[in-house]
Amino acid sequence: LFTDADDLWGDGTVADRQTAAVDAAYGARKTFDFYHDQFGRNGIANDGNGGYSRVHYGNEYVNAFWDDDCFCMTYGDGVDNVNPLTALDVAAHEMTHGVTSTTADLYYYDGESGGLNEGTSDIMAAAVEFFANNPQDVPDYEVGELIDINGDGTPLRYMDQPSKDGISQDYWSSRTEGLDPHFSSGVANHYFYLLAEGSGSKTINGASYNSPTYDSLPVPGLGLHNAFNVWYRALTLYMTSTTDYAGARVATLQAAADLFGRSSEAYETVGNAWAAVNVGGRFVNHITLSPLTAQESAVGQPATLRIEAATSQSGGLTYAASGLPGGLTIDATTGLVSGSPTEPGAFTPTVTLRTSGGSSTTATFPWTVIPSGGDFFVNPGNVNIPDAGDPAESPLVVTGHDGNAPGDLQVTVDIVHTWRGDLVIDLVGSDGTVRRLKNSNSDSGDDVHATYTVDASAIPSNGTWKLRVQDVYSFDTGYIDSWKLTF
Ligand SMILES: [Zn+2]
Repeated sequence: LFTDADDLWGDGTVADRQTAAVDAAYGARKTFDFYHDQFGRNGIANDGNGGYSRVHYGNEYVNAFWDDDCFCMTYGDGVDNVNPLTALDVAAHEMTHGVTSTTADLYYYDGESGGLNEGTSDIMAAAVEFFANNPQDVPDYEVGELIDINGDGTPLRYMDQPSKDGISQDYWSSRTEGLDPHFSSGVANHYFYLLAEGSGSKTINGASYNSPTYDSLPVPGLGLHNAFNVWYRALTLYMTSTTDYAGARVATLQAAADLFGRSSEAYETVGNAWAAVNVGGRFVNHITLSPLTAQESAVGQPATLRIEAATSQSGGLTYAASGLPGGLTIDATTGLVSGSPTEPGAFTPTVTLRTSGGSSTTATFPWTVIPSGGDFFVNPGNVNIPDAGDPAESPLVVTGHDGNAPGDLQVTVDIVHTWRGDLVIDLVGSDGTVRRLKNSNSDSGDDVHATYTVDASAIPSNGTWKLRVQDVYSFDTGYIDSWKLTF
């Protein structure tokens, strides 16, 4: 513990060992005050306690970290032991890891939740800088701009356009979850900048920003204050340890509904800021509609398609469709398309979604129906696989095949799922006989696209067959995309 006879602390240089301690105490104080004044949060753990800060850790240690065990901060002295990592945004970033661990507890080491954990720290660090408004550390949307870890005067990370660091992502993609959390955080940081300040070029406190959007459409900013209120409310009430980017969108929309009302423009702006980083769809006429992909079905085989849409307006949505393949209908209330196609062909249905207030949006997509050749049966409907839960089952009806199935029945499986080693796959015959197609293992690859040959000569062909898929480990998720039997 530092003590001082004259109560004059540090001198602003590293020659005085007190200086790093004073800066650390300043960072702890401003972070504590920010959470207290903005959210009524009383300390990192909301228990009224401050945490210790430890400085001069290690030798030429170029890092700072929060420790959930001691609930304390540690700072190294950096390059040559003369660049302590005690900048305000570093302090606020690290202590925000403590806030996250006592709230959503976003899991750090796997998947997109780690990026959301890091992003939360960058987001609140920027907010604390603006809150402190210190002319010696002019508030900005950069991370680590004062500590010069790169050695060339550039920041560690940029929130308006995260890819400027050379690694971080501006927009969500299927690669996001595989990145180190310090880089998968780019999607969250970019969303937050867009929600706070809006897209395009802007000068803030003398610094120039230029924030792009995934769909090249503009996003208006709601202001920093509204943006961090939405994030904090989502973090503390709606996010959990396994929240991913899609879940963060849902959590922040719920927070925005609480704060501004579901039918507000601000609510739609939150959704559009996510769309601008490729998470979810834009609100068009108060309706978001996820992209509709090309469908393939077979004559006489059950087909399903769920239209994923939502509205900011009260009264829900009604669904209609024209040009669907014969035999298929859409449920006006749920948007579920189902039935069994009656004839082959290439179709281009249009779905129309309407709010109770009369706003509407439409989308057109291709739907191919192949003939049922007598030995080919497909179920193209998507079935979600519960994470580490009960098995998912997808049925498939076989008709017109008297007698038993062949000894070399072909089972073609298309499953979208990260870390496919989590999956156990069985074929359930028309008489309930179970044939194992795939066991769980340590295969970390994505998706299952495989054709298995099964001796089904003891199983009657006609009847309802099922593909049964169980996810036996947590975190990775997915769905049965389609599967088929070839006799
Ligand atoms: Zn961090």
